[in-house]
Amino acid sequence: MKAGEAGSDEEWRQRVKVETDIAAQGNGFKHGVLHIGEPSHFSCPDCGGAMVQIKEGSLVRFKCHTGHGFSPGTLLNEMQEITEKKLWQSVRSLEEFIMLFNLTSDNLAQAGNTHAAAKFKVKAEAATVSANTLRAYIFEHLFKRDSAQQESGA
Ligand SMILES: [Zn+2]
Repeated sequence: MKAGEAGSDEEWRQRVKVETDIAAQGNGFKHGVLHIGEPSHFSCPDCGGAMVQIKEGSLVRFKCHTGHGFSPGTLLNEMQEITEKKLWQSVRSLEEFIMLFNLTSDNLAQAGNTHAAAKFKVKAEAATVSANTLRAYIFEHLFKRDSAQQESGA
């Protein structure tokens, strides 16, 4: 039997004790969270910690070393929300670049440096294209996700 799979009653009792101790006291490392499952490829969306994958029959769940737990469905939802949030933060950053490039360009133009002003206008236009491309990606991504959820009844 591989680590992380449901085993004997004693293994199951030990796993329940470890998880109960982590839930009550935190500090999953101290309570042996790494021994109740296999290392997973995923980091905890709540704290960024390493997670183990715990398989119980046909069910799989994930637990981080600080005690956060996820089913595959809740992990997927959390990862999607984090990804969307970071993508929108990138759009906001690009928009701030655009504003700063335009402001710098205007200031340079007023100072009579038309060559440098034109360079910053080009940078603002490139950032605008990037922001619009990213925004379009996000809308398409959200649309596909919402459609998929509606189709699956989630
Ligand atoms: Zn966590």
